[in-house]
Amino acid sequence: MIPAAFDYLAPTSVADALAALAEAGDDAKVLAGGQSLLPVLRMRLNAPELVIDLGRIDELRGITEDGDHIVIGAMTTYADALASDLVRDHAAILREAIKEVADPQIRHRGTVGGALVHADPAGDVGAPALALDAEFVVTGSGGERTVSAGDFFKDLFETAVGEGELLTAIRIPKHTGWGAHYEKFVRVSHQWSIVAVAATVRVEGGSIAEARIGLTNMGSTPLRASAVETALVGAAARDDSVGAACAAAAEGTNPPSDLNGSADYRRALAPILTRRAVLAAAGG
Ligand SMILES: Cc1cc2nc3c(=O)[nH]c(=O)nc-3n(C[C@H](O)[C@H](O)[C@H](O)COP(=O)(O)OP(=O)(O)OC[C@H]3O[C@@H](n4cnc5c(N)ncnc54)[C@H](O)[C@@H]3O)c2cc1C
Repeated sequence: MIPAAFDYLAPTSVADALAALAEAGDDAKVLAGGQSLLPVLRMRLNAPELVIDLGRIDELRGITEDGDHIVIGAMTTYADALASDLVRDHAAILREAIKEVADPQIRHRGTVGGALVHADPAGDVGAPALALDAEFVVTGSGGERTVSAGDFFKDLFETAVGEGELLTAIRIPKHTGWGAHYEKFVRVSHQWSIVAVAATVRVEGGSIAEARIGLTNMGSTPLRASAVETALVGAAARDDSVGAACAAAAEGTNPPSDLNGSADYRRALAPILTRRAVLAAAGG
């Protein structure tokens, strides 16, 4: 289908984008890589009067180092994040998850920021962002504020980015030297996650010293498997001890039921996928 007619603006600075957003109010929609927004417009599920394309704002692209954090501009594409040494060295679990997003065409257009604001519970970058304790830089006409990962994801397709605001960057504390694995369960390749687990661990002398686990599609937002993280501390990086620690992976979750599987099926998958993810992350 063809989208309803809209006006189009392509500002070259965040300030100009924010001014346009403030003037248009909820008649405007922001365009990043378009991989989620364009299908929505084409199906006429949304018909904004103005589309503000962020694609020409250079200050929103790129990955830099800032002390003990790396900073990813919201308009950085998945492909650029995959090619980044900083992401590979300090946020390996994000890289592992991005490898599993859709196909190369979508990874060349889709952006890390766009995916996080879209907040699809089956999307692959939310769980690693949560597991890494990412901080989200949200900018509005009143200035910048930083939102923790725990407060960023509000509900299905809903985040802390308010009307008239933009997500401008994602700050990730360095997890240098941590092992990482994203275990994505799908029926056919390039499908959205039925369930997936983002696991990143620090191993010391054959045991897990620290673990961060994020769950994809086990609720209306990405979730942290905190009970598993606690149980993993001190566990030997072996199948039996990791398996026992991961048994509680579905605790506190509220997974959906849909054509791909019931909530109970997802609850049964979560401990198995978590065990696999942790063992792979620990190199076991
Ligand atoms: C066929 C297909 C398969 C896919 N498979 C997967 C998959 O397996 N896993 C997966 O995770 N994803 C998948 N996706 C989705 C893909 O990852 C999208 O790129 C992503 O969801 C949105 O990123 P985008 O840059 O394209 O954002 P857009 O589509 O441009 O925008 C998405 C939403 O975020 C808002 N927005 C974007 N950037 C900002 C910002 N900086 N500040 C405020 N609001 C903003 C927009 O207004 C819009 O509401 C798939 C998409 C397609 C088309």
